[in-house]
Amino acid sequence: MGEAEHRGIERPAKLALWACLVLLVLTLLSSIFPQRRGLPTHWLEDPSGQWTLSDVRAQPESAWHNRGEQAFNQGYSRSTFWLRIDLPQWDEGARYLGIGNPLLEHLSVHRLRQGSNMPTLLRLGMARPFAERPLPFVSFVVPLSSADSGATLWLQVNSRTSVQVPLDWWDETAWARHQQQVSLFHGSYLGVTAAMLAFNLLLYLAIRERAYLWYLGWMVCIAAFVFTLNGSSFQWLWPHAPAWNLTVLPTSLSLAIACSAGFFVHFLREGGRAQPGEALFWLLGLGNLALAAAAPALPYRVAIVGAIAMAMATMLVAIVSAAQRALRGNFGAQYFLIAFSFVIAAGVVLALNKLGLIARTFITEHATEVGSAVEMVVLSLAIIARLNHQRRQREIAQAALLDAQQRLTTELEVRVAERTEALQEANAKLTELSQTDALTGIFNRRYLDAHLERELRRLARDGNSMAVMLIDVDHFKRFNDTHGHPAGDACLQAVAAALSANVRRPSDTVARYGGEEFCVLAPDTTEAGAVALAETLRAAVADLRVVVDGVDVAVTTSIGLCWRTPEHPWYASALLKKADEALYGAKAGGRNRVHTV
Ligand code: GH3
Ligand code: MG
Ligand code: MG
Repeated sequence: MGEAEHRGIERPAKLALWACLVLLVLTLLSSIFPQRRGLPTHWLEDPSGQWTLSDVRAQPESAWHNRGEQAFNQGYSRSTFWLRIDLPQWDEGARYLGIGNPLLEHLSVHRLRQGSNMPTLLRLGMARPFAERPLPFVSFVVPLSSADSGATLWLQVNSRTSVQVPLDWWDETAWARHQQQVSLFHGSYLGVTAAMLAFNLLLYLAIRERAYLWYLGWMVCIAAFVFTLNGSSFQWLWPHAPAWNLTVLPTSLSLAIACSAGFFVHFLREGGRAQPGEALFWLLGLGNLALAAAAPALPYRVAIVGAIAMAMATMLVAIVSAAQRALRGNFGAQYFLIAFSFVIAAGVVLALNKLGLIARTFITEHATEVGSAVEMVVLSLAIIARLNHQRRQREIAQAALLDAQQRLTTELEVRVAERTEALQEANAKLTELSQTDALTGIFNRRYLDAHLERELRRLARDGNSMAVMLIDVDHFKRFNDTHGHPAGDACLQAVAAALSANVRRPSDTVARYGGEEFCVLAPDTTEAGAVALAETLRAAVADLRVVVDGVDVAVTTSIGLCWRTPEHPWYASALLKKADEALYGAKAGGRNRVHTV
C-alpha cells in the first residue's frame, strides 16, 4: 500500500472509475431483473379525507385519473387517496394483491364482487397491530378467491409517510416465490449485518480503537433503520406497538449518521492525531444527535424530513472532505469513498426508480439493503486493510529505528576498540617507564628489586644458583668534580651501555642500582662463570674511553660478587648485603677489580 500512496495522481482517477462502475452495475442489475407487473389503476384525491365509498362511487368517470400499470406515488400529502382497481377474470385458484409499501399508515380495501351490491371492507395499514393482517408478511397482501374474479377494489390510503402504493398481482406460485425471495433476502441481510457486527465488535474488543465503536454504532442504527423501513422490525420485534415504527425511523437514521460522523473523524485520523476541520464533523454529529433526541416529540413529517436533510448534508460534507483527503493520499479516506459509493449508488437507484426513470424491479425495491450490506462488507475490509497498513508503517518505523540503533552500536564498538588499544599502548608505555631508569635507559632499582624476588623464588623451585654483582664506578666524585656533572652523566650512560653490551644471556639482568652503582643478576651460572662474567664486565668498562671536551678519559669499576646455591637461606636483602660487602672488599683491595664472597 505504501507504494500505491506515492502514485497519488492515479488513485483519485481509479476511485472515480470505481464509483462509476458500481453505479453502472447496480443500474444494469436493476434493469435485467424482471419488471414487476402492476395492475391498471385509476385514482382520485380527497383533500378533506371525509369521503365514504358511496361518495367515491358517485364521482363521474371523468373525475378519475388513469395511472395505467405505473406505481402510484404522491410523496408526502395530507389528502386521502382512492385507487380503483378492476380485477381481471380468472377461473380457479387464489390470487394475491400485494401492496409493497409496509409503511402506509391507513389502508382500507373495499371490495365489490361481480353481481353483488354489498361492498366488503378489509382494514390494513401499519397503524394497526400486525396480528390483524390476513397474511403475516412484511408488506400488505390481500388474498382473493375465484369468487373475486372480475371484482372491483377501492384502496383508501392516508398516511403521514410517503404515499407510494406499488401494486403486485400474483397467482399462487408467484406469491410463494415472492415470499421466499423476500425472506431469503431479509435473512441474508440480517446474516451479513450480524456477521459484520460480530466481526467489528471483536475487532474493537481486541484493538480498543474508538473508530470501531463508532462503526458498530453506525451498523446497529443503519440496520435498525433498514429493517424498520422494510417492515421486518414491525413483524418480528414490536408487532403490538405500531406507533414505534414512526418513532424508530427518524431516530435510527439520525443516530446512524451521528455515528458515521464520529467514525469518519476517528477513521481518518493519521497517526491518532486530530485533523483540521474535525470540529465541523463533531458539530454535524451533534446536530444529528439533537434531531434523534427530538424526533419522538416532533410531528413525523418534520422529524423524517429533518433527519433526511441533515443526513444528506452530513454525507455531502463527509464525501467532499473524504475526497480531499483521498487526493492527499489518506489511506482511510480512499476506502471510505469506495464503501460509501455503494450507499450513494443505492440512493441514486432508488431515486431514479421513484422518479419513474427506471422500472420497478426486485433490485430497486431492495436497493437500500443491497447498498448498506455491500458498504458494511467493504468498509470492514477497509478496516482490515487499514490495520494492515498501520502495521506495515509501524514495521517500517521499527526497522528504521533498529537500523539506527545498530549503526550507533557499531560506531560505539569501533570507538571502544580504538580507545582500548590506545589505553593498552599507554599502559605498556607506563609500565616500561616505571621499570626504566631515565638517565641510562636500562632497568631501574624498582624493577630490580621485584625481579630479584621473582628470580629467587623460581631458582629455589629449580634448585639452581644465583650470582649478584654490585658494580660501583671508582672515584666518581672526583670525576664529577673534575669534568662537571653533565660529563658525569654521560659517563654513567657509557658504563650502562658497556655493561648491557657484555651481558648476553636473556636470563641476565642489568639495572641501575642508584647513583653511580649498577647491579647485574646472573641466574643459573656456575661460580666460575659468574667470576668470569664479572671480570669481562670490569675489563669492558676499563677499556672505555669517555670523551670529555675532546679528551679521552678512562673510567674503572669495582665489582662485588656474591654467588649462592639453594642450600643457603635466600633472601634478596641478604644477597645484596653480601654483594655490598664484596664491593667493599674490592674497593679496599685497590679498586678496578672483582671481589667475591
Ligand atoms: P669510590 O671509588 O670510593 O666509590 O669513590 P667515589 O667518589 O665514587 O665515592 P662515592 O661512591 O661515595 O661517590 C658517589 C658519587 O657519585 C657522589 C656523586 O657525586 C656521584 N654521583 C652519584 N649519582 C650521580 C649521578 O647520577 N650523576 C653524576 N654525574 N654523579 C653522580
Ligand atoms: Mg658509590
Ligand atoms: Mg664510586
